[in-house]
Amino acid sequence: MTRLHEEEHPNKAFGWAARDSSGLLSPFNFSRRATGENDVAFKVLYCGICHSDLHMVKNEWGSSVYPLVPGHEVVGEVTEVGNKVQNFKVGDRVGVGCMVGSCRSCDSCKDNLENYCPKMVLTYGAKNYDGTITYGGYSDTMVADEHFIVRIPDNLPLDAAAPLLCAGITVYSPLRYYGLDKPGLRIGVVGLGGLGHVAVKFAKAMGVKVTVISTSPNKKKEALENLGADSFLISRDQDQLQGANGTLDGIIDTVSAQHPVLPLLGLLKSNGKLVLVGAPEKPLELQAFPLLQGRKLVGGSMIGGIKETQEMFDFAAKHNVKPDIEVVAMEYVNTAMERLLKADVKYRFVIDIGKTLKATS
Ligand code: NAP
Ligand code: ZN
Ligand code: ZN
Repeated sequence: MTRLHEEEHPNKAFGWAARDSSGLLSPFNFSRRATGENDVAFKVLYCGICHSDLHMVKNEWGSSVYPLVPGHEVVGEVTEVGNKVQNFKVGDRVGVGCMVGSCRSCDSCKDNLENYCPKMVLTYGAKNYDGTITYGGYSDTMVADEHFIVRIPDNLPLDAAAPLLCAGITVYSPLRYYGLDKPGLRIGVVGLGGLGHVAVKFAKAMGVKVTVISTSPNKKKEALENLGADSFLISRDQDQLQGANGTLDGIIDTVSAQHPVLPLLGLLKSNGKLVLVGAPEKPLELQAFPLLQGRKLVGGSMIGGIKETQEMFDFAAKHNVKPDIEVVAMEYVNTAMERLLKADVKYRFVIDIGKTLKATS
């Protein structure tokens, strides 16, 4: 991809960036803007590794701009606030998710759905309103308009709270919007990774019964015993899937790679909903008849608005929904990416930025 114009900002920053579609990350010096009157600046302490970071460092969606500093599950402590900032002060525990800007005036923005604003600015690898490129949370500092800053409730540990900023809201929002949050319903969660395991936890906290549909037999015991799933199906086992046909009111599909959706439609009851949140680089194959029979619906969902993100945090704090994480050092990030590709993490890597990110200059 062509390099966008980059201005030198006054504040020095340091992080790890991918330089090309090999996706390999290495130390990188850059700069961040001065804290504007509506801005909150914070020292980054932890950042989750989302599978979207992996898609992006490898340019799998074709939109990556290098050098690319990933990271959109960013938490830390406020170091400076602009003079018009109303809701935050120095020392507050805060986070930034997938967006750092939106137009604030379109229909989506007025509906608190900044995530669907056509001018939404992603936290990294996007062109900001001042023409410069955004850099994510695999870095020492962050600055954003206070509208896009979320407060982390006191009873959630900062490291485990980080994945809620993307994985959490991405599954919470469709559970609510598609009405899959009613006690007594039964839903399926496909793919037990970062998003999937939080989906299980939120659904259970809402009183919903959960069937996990996974390619990994080694995740079964823990899913049932620790995550509280009610049943577990191996997606490559046709007999198991057929035995569960017509049992689910809805499905949240978090799978990051191309996979068959036909068997998933079979698992739905009449009027059931298949909601895609995973974003494979290649198209999925969809046939008409399985949808017509039983009036089934296929939908999608992308993260969530800021208001709902704060609501999700408050719900997580109240119901003790905490992601299961493996905390790793910054130097481990390339290995973590390799393991993530193999679905070898229970269930989210979180980088200890505060203790392990070392500046080179
Ligand atoms: P993840 O931790 O890697 O989890 C994905 C899970 O999918 C894996 O753990 C694995 O679960 C399953 N899986 C992987 N490859 C598969 C294959 N070939 N066939 C069937 N199942 C497979 O990733 P994540 O961070 O949760 O993200 C998941 C996807 O959601 C990514 O595509 C990401 O970009 C996307 N995403 C979307 C949004 C949004 O706003 N919609 C937000 C964040 C992320 P099992 O071992 O259980 O099979
Ligand atoms: Zn993400
Ligand atoms: Zn807008």
